[in-house]
Amino acid sequence: MKPSILVIYTGGTIGMKTDPDNGTLIPFDFGDIYDEFPYLRKLDVEIEVISCPPVDSANVTPAFWVQLATLIRDNYANHDGFVILHGTDTMCYTASALSFMCENLTKPIVFTGSQIPIGVLRTDGRENLITAIEIAAARQDGLPVVPEVSLYFHNKLLRANRTTKHSAEQLDAFRSNNYPPLAEVGVKIHYNKSVIRKIESQSNTLTISTELETGVEVIKIFPGMSPRIFSSLLHLDAVKGVILETYGSGNAPVAEWFTHTLADTVNRGIVTINITQCPNGSVEMERYETGINLLHAGVISGRDMTTEAAVTKLMYLLGKPITASERLLLLNKPIRGEFSR
Ligand code: ASP
Repeated sequence: MKPSILVIYTGGTIGMKTDPDNGTLIPFDFGDIYDEFPYLRKLDVEIEVISCPPVDSANVTPAFWVQLATLIRDNYANHDGFVILHGTDTMCYTASALSFMCENLTKPIVFTGSQIPIGVLRTDGRENLITAIEIAAARQDGLPVVPEVSLYFHNKLLRANRTTKHSAEQLDAFRSNNYPPLAEVGVKIHYNKSVIRKIESQSNTLTISTELETGVEVIKIFPGMSPRIFSSLLHLDAVKGVILETYGSGNAPVAEWFTHTLADTVNRGIVTINITQCPNGSVEMERYETGINLLHAGVISGRDMTTEAAVTKLMYLLGKPITASERLLLLNKPIRGEFSR
């Protein structure tokens, strides 16, 4: 039997085509996918399409992630894999969020989009769409080859929660700086099987976690940061979790005001995670005096997590009805391959 793939269109550049009457960009109707792309019939795949009201991904919210996860859960039993067409601007946030929210996932969810609208002749969307479908449908010995949330773009398949959009211009728009590609696409698709997630048990049923805590803020430190502003940001009522973007291997000023403010934040029960501003490499707070102070203040190491993964993991774990010590345990280990050990 042909594998069945559900394509969920949510918006973004990939969904635009040129109006033949006046040359403007108008939304493309993915419901007519075979009319527009007859060559998709050549794939040995059954394709169903759900078109959501298109959103520019700058307008995406956690409520949207919940809708998307619910849509996948409701259609999970009837399909072998899922392809999500999404705007590129916040694709890494949505894809990271889904990687945490979908528990016991055993089927592929592949995110893709494009830098050039699909209705423009030179589009990168056509190849991204076709290959994403092929990857979502790929099976070996009856099992999916990539049973995790991934992002396919410009010849590379990346683990979703390791990705960052790095270019507003190049077709090669995404990077996974701290984890190798799950697959590289040339004449053939080469799966890098040793780095693809293994499923613990096929019999587990998918559950989705829909309670996300949005009281999370990201603070990027810089020389000359005002102690008053720093303290105000950490005393906002709504804040339940903080992602601190520090220098290099997780370093920050040793000044008394800085360390004291952070220790006080942690003591007030606000979960604080340290990630690095460097696109490549990991936090190692034990390495310098400027890092060890943060460790002593109770700040948690985010290792080599992206901002996108740190934000969405924190929203997910703060939303879960678990104790503070259970949460701490889950923050200190990779739960979906989001950081290196
Ligand atoms: N603004 C668009 C979006 O993220 C850009 C794109 O899709 O490439 O929705």
